[in-house]
Amino acid sequence: MLYNSTENKNEVVSAAQAIAQGISKDGGLFVPQEFPKYDDAVFNQLLELDYKGRAKKIFADYLTDFTQEEIDDCVEKAYASEKFGGDNPAPLCCKNYNGNEINILELWHGPTCAFKDMALQILPHFLTKSLNKTYKDKDAVILVATSGDTGKAALEGFKDVDHTKILVFYPVDGVSPMQRHQMNTQEGSNVNVCAIEGNFDDAQTGVKKIFTTPEIAEKLEANNMLFSSANSINWGRLLPQIVYYISSYCDLVNAGKIKLGDKINVVVPTGNFGNILASYYAMCMGLPINKFICASNSNNVLTDFINTGVYDKNRQFYTTISPSMDILVSSNLERLLYKMSGNDDVLTKEWMTKLKTEGKYSVNDEVKSKIKELFYGGYCDDEDTQKTISRMFMDESYLCDTHTAVAVAVYDKYVQETNDKTPTVLASTASPYKFSKAVLSAVNDGKELPNNEFDMVDMLNKISNTDVPTPLLSLKDKKSRFSDVCKSDEMPKYVLKTLGVN
Ligand SMILES: *Cc1c(COP(=O)(O)O)cnc(C)c1O
Repeated sequence: MLYNSTENKNEVVSAAQAIAQGISKDGGLFVPQEFPKYDDAVFNQLLELDYKGRAKKIFADYLTDFTQEEIDDCVEKAYASEKFGGDNPAPLCCKNYNGNEINILELWHGPTCAFKDMALQILPHFLTKSLNKTYKDKDAVILVATSGDTGKAALEGFKDVDHTKILVFYPVDGVSPMQRHQMNTQEGSNVNVCAIEGNFDDAQTGVKKIFTTPEIAEKLEANNMLFSSANSINWGRLLPQIVYYISSYCDLVNAGKIKLGDKINVVVPTGNFGNILASYYAMCMGLPINKFICASNSNNVLTDFINTGVYDKNRQFYTTISPSMDILVSSNLERLLYKMSGNDDVLTKEWMTKLKTEGKYSVNDEVKSKIKELFYGGYCDDEDTQKTISRMFMDESYLCDTHTAVAVAVYDKYVQETNDKTPTVLASTASPYKFSKAVLSAVNDGKELPNNEFDMVDMLNKISNTDVPTPLLSLKDKKSRFSDVCKSDEMPKYVLKTLGVN
């Protein structure tokens, strides 16, 4: 299987090259030229397998330049049961909200307690094997822009991995205290963390600019290094996310909740559009999905886009209690537009150029109606997010984090509006303990909150009677290692200085 850039069809690469490079030189994103198609026979085969088995089969169909042994090795290392608290790294938990059943797909049982672990525990293994095939003996420099969870998950995945260095940038006021503490205490000899004065979009734009500046690439090349990406613009990040949608469907069939072939709805709390895009790609492979419910917080640029066909990032940016979704430029939408426009690289490039220069573009009627047919967009503000956490906890004794709550609230609205009762899988993207303050104030009956983050964790633990994930508990006594802050236009200089490259 080969991959091409969304902005230039003539840029064709292997899977290993797509993963090693991260982003195409023209600024476009790598996409598979076609999708493997799974019929009932393949699904019947997948039903018999566990998570790792399903992952091995799916990866083999995409990473055709990897041997099966290489793929198996990546999967075994990434999804070892001690890392994900059990044999199924993505368990389903069935809850009722406002009279409707929701199959909550808990994707946060990994080492950093957010769904990013599902991809970032395996990406370093994909990447080192890819480098070996394409740029042997070079060191990959992983640049990450994070709204909080990607940074920590990438640091944890890449720490002390040979032939890699990792640099993470996060918005100085845009992450939760727990997220900041997780990153600043990161161990490892090849890691670096820096806050930037600005929001996530500034960090992401800064990183993309560094990637596509030829002079910087040349300097690295002269030092035997190359840039790569751990953001969801990297194909190696997206691919592992397809697996859990297919696997959760198989689990529902095996549990007798649906029959093979029945359609499901998928609800995803969305920021950069990576997670929900992975579910759409699963559908392109044959997974029966009826509707994709795209849930946003007050940064509702995607809600408006799905409803109007106009993407306009020129709007107020809100800092919310679901910070990992505080994003106005959803990078992976580019991949959806490419597919929905019938793989039209010229049109995709035109829209993306408009986004860069004017901050705004409109898709044509055909693409607009195709998107509307499959996607429902909705949003929920902080107040409703907290009400949802509170109600879910009162009714079901189930504690969900702020991002998951956004998804629950938008799903509830969708069912009210449409009365569509198709069985539903909802992606739960983080442990509630990563966002203790907001979650606690939703469930503590208005009592005063302690000041210290870890006292809040304790209080939440007492109220909810749920376990605090061990990786978060063990952070309490760790010392901070990183405290750099830089302006977003100083990022290139900072990167070169940190790498010791002139
Ligand atoms: C990253 C993240 C999201 C958004 O996922 P995208 O793939 O960027 O759309 C939602 N919730 C949490 C907790 C996250 O970390």
